[in-house]
Amino acid sequence: MDSIVAIATAPGRGAIGVIRVSGPASRMVMMALCGRELHPRQATHLPFLDDQGAPIDDGLAIFFPGPHSYTGEDVLELQGHGGPGVLGLLLSRCLSVGTAAQSNHSVIRLARPGEFTQRAFLNDKLDLTQAEAVADLIDAGSAQAARSAVASLQGQFSQRITVLRDGLIDLQMRVEACLDFPEEDIDFIARENVADRLVRLTEQLSEITAAAGRGAVLREGLRVVLVGAPNVGKSSLLNALAEQDVALVTDIAGTTRDRIIQEISIDGVPMHIIDTAGLRVTDDPVEKLGIERTWRAIEEAQAVLLLSDASGQIPSDQALENDVIARAPAARAVIRVVNKTDLLPEQGAPVDTDVNHQVITVSAKTGRGLIALRRALLDLAGWSGDASSGVFSARARHLQALAACQQALEAAATTLGDAQLELLAESLRLAQRSLAEITGEFSSDDLLGEIFGRFCIGK
Ligand code: GDP
Repeated sequence: MDSIVAIATAPGRGAIGVIRVSGPASRMVMMALCGRELHPRQATHLPFLDDQGAPIDDGLAIFFPGPHSYTGEDVLELQGHGGPGVLGLLLSRCLSVGTAAQSNHSVIRLARPGEFTQRAFLNDKLDLTQAEAVADLIDAGSAQAARSAVASLQGQFSQRITVLRDGLIDLQMRVEACLDFPEEDIDFIARENVADRLVRLTEQLSEITAAAGRGAVLREGLRVVLVGAPNVGKSSLLNALAEQDVALVTDIAGTTRDRIIQEISIDGVPMHIIDTAGLRVTDDPVEKLGIERTWRAIEEAQAVLLLSDASGQIPSDQALENDVIARAPAARAVIRVVNKTDLLPEQGAPVDTDVNHQVITVSAKTGRGLIALRRALLDLAGWSGDASSGVFSARARHLQALAACQQALEAAATTLGDAQLELLAESLRLAQRSLAEITGEFSSDDLLGEIFGRFCIGK
């Protein structure tokens, strides 16, 4: 296994800068730069030496002999001054230590993004949800996102998955015992007992899915579509909604570059507001592409806000509203927002009847009704009430695996009627496998490459 080195702190100037080395050559770097063996896991203040024995910097050095380290390998951490020049010197020095020992081939190389955490995963120091949580914690754009990433990092997500998986394994073993010893008069499982257990396991799964859904919204954001005729107050509403929270800049591919998608956050929950103002018939190929993307975003939206003007001065764009409703994924996600209620006489609140959709009256100008609108959006994100307790960070791939587990449990339930025990056992196996994908016991190299490739260098 080759050894890796990287500057672990962000580029630029800072009070301190950290260099991290992991792998068997860490000890050699320690001897070369620190000039002596360090006490394990204790910070020692000393000069970091160049190849002539002259100091490059001085700071704290900590040596973590494996397996009691972040990566599970020998790790050396050098905490020096946080300037690009001095850190560059230290990095070159670490690399040259590796080269000197093996003439022209260095046993130490620069780490790839996320490689320290990848090694921690491969050495069983972290499971995959915890490794993903490391990146989520670093990327967290709000306090809420940071809290839930820490919860995942501490294993709260993995523990719930493990408990569910243990339940599935136990049930599967009992079913298989019945298959293996059909003649034995042992009541491994009474049939109704299996049905009860399946129901309980399915409930457990739904709870995890709901919590993971909330966690995923924190990371991926809620997709909200804003529909309304020109001048109905879309931009004003967007600004009013964004006002309390500083607009959040996230880095989700394909959204931030779109001018028609704006990022805001409500109570720390990120929202991508998709403005449909750009939806119109056009021959321009570039604009067409943008419009196609907007329609796709609408189909994936979790909330659709249909804006109308309470004063009646701006007629609604019925055709557009109908198109959007037709493409929206669910009626419960469509909210009618009646704006400009400040223009109405005090007692003459509008009575908008739409039995199919929730109606909320607001004034983007005075702020009236915005609390209710915010609450409705948080509700759709699963983030109302005390939802913030017990949340952990999650990703789309976790939700897909949980959905696959759900399908397998549904298939298991259908085998109960005529006691097809082989099929039941197989469905239970499939359900477990989906859960194991979440924690990373079954994961392809492609998936690992995809996950760790998005980390920053030095993590
Ligand atoms: P958009 O074209 O849908 O984005 O609409 P704008 O947000 O640009 O608003 C159009 C006009 O309506 C502007 O002059 C706003 O000041 C005004 N407007 C927006 N919301 C309200 C409101 O709640 N009350 C009143 N009185 N005027 C509003």
